[in-house]
Amino acid sequence: MAEVKILMKGYAKEIEGEEFASSTITLIQDNNLNIIVDPGMNRKGLLDSLAKEGLKSEDINFIIVTHTHLDHSLLAGIFGNAKILDNNNVYSFDGKITEHDSIVPNTEIQIIKTPGHDQFHCSVLINTKNRGKVIIAGDVFWWTDDEEQKLDRQSLLEHKDPYVKDEKVLRKSREKILKIADYIIPGHGEGFKLNK
Ligand SMILES: [Zn+2]
Repeated sequence: MAEVKILMKGYAKEIEGEEFASSTITLIQDNNLNIIVDPGMNRKGLLDSLAKEGLKSEDINFIIVTHTHLDHSLLAGIFGNAKILDNNNVYSFDGKITEHDSIVPNTEIQIIKTPGHDQFHCSVLINTKNRGKVIIAGDVFWWTDDEEQKLDRQSLLEHKDPYVKDEKVLRKSREKILKIADYIIPGHGEGFKLNK
């Protein structure tokens, strides 16, 4: 069964009037494959956290980007042996683009379309032993560092996203995730269990 580990908690903060952001970086290990969801834009943080797992950038087989905002996707290019997946396609470093079947090849990890924050946003669904159905939700759910994470259903559905592309569509995606997930890993902020 797949194992999910948060390598680095995503942040979004202002320090002395300057903005800092990098997405939550998650490692999934399944069927001898190393998969990273959202490599973020903190290069040192990413490489240090991989080293702690005994991994080098060459050991990564797949990168999934939940969407192409650079705070989530900037470092996708540093994994020489990886293929990159987004909501619809698989990209290789020779320029080849193919469509995927909403599944990470040779795994049971699902890629589900969750537009709203961004038109082409996707989330990742993994069945785990410890936490049940985990969804890595990218920016379907995210908080700045100084915001309180209110986790009741209503607050989760209505939380304001200042960068939202389409509010109605985002709400649908949030409903979809809340229906499926036992545990949610947000784009920025703490992972949390859903009370069902
Ligand atoms: Zn983000």
